[in-house]
Amino acid sequence: MPIQVEDYFPRETFQRMKAFADQHETPFVVIDKQTIANAYDQLVTCFPFAKIYYAVKANPAVEIIDLLRDKGSNYDIASIYELDKVLKQGVSADRISYGNTIKKSKDIRYFYEKGVRLFATDSEADLRNIAKAAPGSKVYVRLLTEGSTTADWPLSRKFGCQTDMAMDLLILARQLGLVPYGISFHVGSQQRDIGVWDAAIAKVKVIFERLKEEDGIVLKMINMGGGFPANYITKTNSLETYAEEIIRFLKEDFGDDLPEIILEPGRSLIANAGILVSEVVLVSRKSRTAVERWVFTDVGKFSGLIETMDEAIKFPIWTEKKGEMEEVVIAGPTCDSADIMYEHYKYGLPLNLAIGDRLYWLSTGAYTTSYSAIEFNGFPPLKAFYL
Ligand SMILES: *Cc1c(COP(=O)(O)O)cnc(C)c1O
Repeated sequence: MPIQVEDYFPRETFQRMKAFADQHETPFVVIDKQTIANAYDQLVTCFPFAKIYYAVKANPAVEIIDLLRDKGSNYDIASIYELDKVLKQGVSADRISYGNTIKKSKDIRYFYEKGVRLFATDSEADLRNIAKAAPGSKVYVRLLTEGSTTADWPLSRKFGCQTDMAMDLLILARQLGLVPYGISFHVGSQQRDIGVWDAAIAKVKVIFERLKEEDGIVLKMINMGGGFPANYITKTNSLETYAEEIIRFLKEDFGDDLPEIILEPGRSLIANAGILVSEVVLVSRKSRTAVERWVFTDVGKFSGLIETMDEAIKFPIWTEKKGEMEEVVIAGPTCDSADIMYEHYKYGLPLNLAIGDRLYWLSTGAYTTSYSAIEFNGFPPLKAFYL
């Protein structure tokens, strides 16, 4: 089935973006800021009681940092470089959390000196570093979560610890003079199974209760991470449905007296706002009788489409050409055979698609520009425009 733009953008937003795109050489991403603003407002409407910490790694552009600053967002930061960038845009340190559990002691100190007092952790060594380099700060412990099979871009295994260790760490935090503040989890990015939040919230509830009863530690906050969906080819429930369900899970476990709730959206705020505009470099077949056509574009895994790794994220691809469709392999322009975006998942593209035609990769605002290589094969980093 050909991609219908209307399933992804209001007509007139798309036309405005395309009119801009028509004036520029490919490849580049064009991002509509109003779409991001709308997504932020929608999230606030869905979770009116939550504090939003934008996960800067999804797209660290100053245009986005500024937009969200003016909307009152907070920021989930993963490195001293992201920190400097966000502070430079006039965001105060009390709107920032250091959400990366893997960090150098001297970087913790840097955050502390800049005024940040909210830190994630999932290990004893990191917790002890925080106690030394950021004394008295609030810490929250990241839990391991299940759900990696239903998230299109899982963030499991590498991050988080089991429930028993989470409790040990929060008790140790108090001994070390830190404030044991709460629990975080991330159910996996582009998480299509809402039930995964239920299981995670239930684990958090157990930790809240046991620490209170057995150790007199009263936790104040649940950081529910990201995982909310963007619009790709594989359909998901609406954000409203996610919110209704997740709020129901929270109320089942915590009643009406909810702790402070933090959300760390990245993908769901930004992805839908972007179109990666590319051009067909070559169309070929591998033998005289081969049924499969290869379509090579001027973007690939190394110029923003790394999330096509294992064909994990299936971006909708739109083209102006219409007519009979044929299954194709879609690959990038570099001299690396890993630079194939879709081979097993068969995309249909029109038979009359030709060299020089443009392909519009929809929902590419997040995890594209920041993932683009800086010089592989000499190709420059992916350009981006913010309208
Ligand atoms: C990447 C990341 C996020 C953002 O997740 P999305 O699924 O893109 O919304 C949030 N929190 C942490 C700690 C992350 O590493």
